[in-house]
Amino acid sequence: MLVERPKAVMMLGGVVHVVLDGVLNVRILRVNCLRMFHLVLRGKRRGGEGDREDHRQKHGGGKLLHGPNVARSPAGGQVPKVLAPREERGGACSASAPRRAYTGNTMTTPDASPQPSQKRYFFEKFGITERLLERCLGEALSAGGDYADLYFESVTATSLGVDEQIVKSASQGTSAGCGIRVLSGERTGYAFTDNLSPERLLHAARTAALIASGPAKQPVQGFLETSGADLYPVPLGGFDLDLAARLELILRADRAARAFDPRIVQVRAGYSEELRRILIAASDGAFASDTQPLCRLNVFVIAKEDALSTKGSAGGGGRAGLEQFRGSKSPENLAREAARGAILQLGAVPAPAGEMQVVLGPGWPGILLHEAVGHGLEADFNRKKTSAFAGLIGQPVASSKVTVVDNGTMAGRRGSLNVDDEGTATQETVLIEGGVLKGYLSDKLSARLMGMSNTGSGRRESYQSIPMPRMTNTYMLAGDDEPEDILRSVKRGLYAVNFGGGQVDITNGKFVFSASEAYLIEDGKITAPVRDATLIGNGPEALKYVSMVGHDLKLDEGIGTCGKDGQSVPVGVGMPTIKLDKMTVGGTGR
Ligand SMILES: [Zn+2]
Repeated sequence: MLVERPKAVMMLGGVVHVVLDGVLNVRILRVNCLRMFHLVLRGKRRGGEGDREDHRQKHGGGKLLHGPNVARSPAGGQVPKVLAPREERGGACSASAPRRAYTGNTMTTPDASPQPSQKRYFFEKFGITERLLERCLGEALSAGGDYADLYFESVTATSLGVDEQIVKSASQGTSAGCGIRVLSGERTGYAFTDNLSPERLLHAARTAALIASGPAKQPVQGFLETSGADLYPVPLGGFDLDLAARLELILRADRAARAFDPRIVQVRAGYSEELRRILIAASDGAFASDTQPLCRLNVFVIAKEDALSTKGSAGGGGRAGLEQFRGSKSPENLAREAARGAILQLGAVPAPAGEMQVVLGPGWPGILLHEAVGHGLEADFNRKKTSAFAGLIGQPVASSKVTVVDNGTMAGRRGSLNVDDEGTATQETVLIEGGVLKGYLSDKLSARLMGMSNTGSGRRESYQSIPMPRMTNTYMLAGDDEPEDILRSVKRGLYAVNFGGGQVDITNGKFVFSASEAYLIEDGKITAPVRDATLIGNGPEALKYVSMVGHDLKLDEGIGTCGKDGQSVPVGVGMPTIKLDKMTVGGTGR
């Protein structure tokens, strides 16, 4: 039985371009991510045992649809079970999208039994033993695979949504499962199960093993636990699931947004959180576990004046508990920020069009790096030579003022991880240093096939998904310039401080962003706000025009979700104020 995939619904324009070439393989050419409102999960999602296979695998029986997001279940698959809503599955939005309701009609109640210790969670809760892990890995390699890993995941998720002062959605649930992967050369066999009994795990292992054909050749090595960092607090006993406290956060946001201005006519606010526990064991001896909290609060408003209506949004979050929603991330502050943006747009003039100097404000505009550079530097795209950055290591791809890193080791940040989803400790990876391309983001597969180091960038959306090289927190390091001097140096240009989202075609590096808050710069001064401005450019070229870099590096508020190949993962971005001497602005004004 096929696993239903969430339907991608773009709420603010843009499309997901997945190119299926049918014969050779399935690959995503346009990575569409960091959007304002993107994936909305509709209907229930069914789990069950299934497998994913490389198209080259010979397979018998059962209908196999190719593609990284397509699964089939073996005959006699178990009864479908509704998975719990996951923060990333449903909301998958970047800037402050009120997470839309998970409309699954079955809810499971989180288990209220005492929580086992973090490290031994799966051992104590599901009866997993080291011996069973070794047996599963042995089965997975029984047909001659080069490498196998087991990824156990248990997620407790909660989400709440208020629309027009009415609670429109509330859900809590848990899900657990295991994904088993076997690598054989460049091929990947994948099977997963939401039943963690030894029989089912061994069956899934044998299914994934089919990717290879031959006698077993790799032994399972003794496990050596990864010593990952401790980047986020783990609430004792898991999230306490005090729904009233969470509901109060979004009701406070709702009230503050309405009180901001009578022209605010509609308010939606949403809260989502999850606690994800993982255990990874691999045939190369990798053994790691982690417990990852994640929360987000979003506010979305519509303002109206005469016939004109505008939108505004804001949000914040990270890998921490409710205490983070204070100060700049208080519901009132986020609501006022959303309302301010919408009201500002009411008085905006049409954006100018053409090539001009562009100043990007600090923080969230770092999505430019994520789109223009980050995806193009994911090792899988370079291994397959589909990236515009393929073969450019050691070459200048930006001005000498530009240094870009991807850093998964920042405490409490939304994109941070103690270990990646292959059990490798995360790290800070320099992507561009002084304008020169330094490296790619890699997982185990690409590292092995490309003969490069593994940067701990193997991430996946869930146990149903194969890991891929992904970003964590991607940002540009601060420079020396005063932000005021940067603005003063522009005779006529655009100052963009907030973006709705962007997308990139990684084959040619072309990207486009829509600015949700931007202003004209005239004679070195910020003047009228503009609406509907888009920034258009080419990844390996755009950053060559960076002529000034501020000292005001800022990271985003913890709202980003990146989509790639149908998998959503939380990420962070950041940037100081920068000036680009030349960039194409799309707009309707003059
Ligand atoms: Zn992305």
